[in-house]
Amino acid sequence: MRVVLLGPPGSGKGTCAKIIGEMYGVPVITTGDMLRAAVVRATPLGVTAKGYMDRGELVPDDFVNDLVRERLRESDATNGFILDGYPRSPKQAEALERILKQSGKRLDHVLHVYLENEVIIDRLSKRRSCPKCSAIFHLENKPPRVNGRCDVCATALVQRNDDKPEVIRRRLEVYREKTQPLLDFYEKKGVINAIRGDIDLKELPAALRRVLGYC
Ligand code: AMP
Repeated sequence: MRVVLLGPPGSGKGTCAKIIGEMYGVPVITTGDMLRAAVVRATPLGVTAKGYMDRGELVPDDFVNDLVRERLRESDATNGFILDGYPRSPKQAEALERILKQSGKRLDHVLHVYLENEVIIDRLSKRRSCPKCSAIFHLENKPPRVNGRCDVCATALVQRNDDKPEVIRRRLEVYREKTQPLLDFYEKKGVINAIRGDIDLKELPAALRRVLGYC
């Protein structure tokens, strides 16, 4: 099962990715998390990526393509993967095609997770994340059990720099300019389906199964 999840930041791609990954027993590869880990470790990639990420811009294609190419070579991705947040530009989509072609593989599904901008802005500005395990909370809809602490590992929660209102607006613009054209790209290939990003968590697994065409 090889799936790409497309959708604006905050649309719910990450939640869908996790469910699909568990459903089909394949790893979820989230470029945002990989880049944030590189920033925390202050690797050369992390040092370069930080400025772009803090401004809500895309990290240049070549860096991200190399990161994904390496990750897809790991053994757990041999039988499938869920790509969350990649590709995000036509150049990245072409790079992914080349990477897959080299190993005689192709995508099974591209899932467009969509949501209105006002809902996204509300979600992201009230989102708090765990810098250690990447768990996500929402101040109103999914507050942590202990105020300000991660339910999973008790680390102090943070608001990501790029979840501040002015950066959120820029991320949405970047999505419209750079990533939205991919909807057409995949539409022409006939592999794209769409799902709303605010389906109730209890109903989401069944909805995803229906959309992906499996029982
Ligand atoms: P996300 O958590 O997916 O919203 O990603 C956070 C930030 O990481 C983005 O705003 C970009 O700066 C960077 N990023 C994540 N994935 C990519 C990608 N595929 N291409 C370029 N930059 C990316």
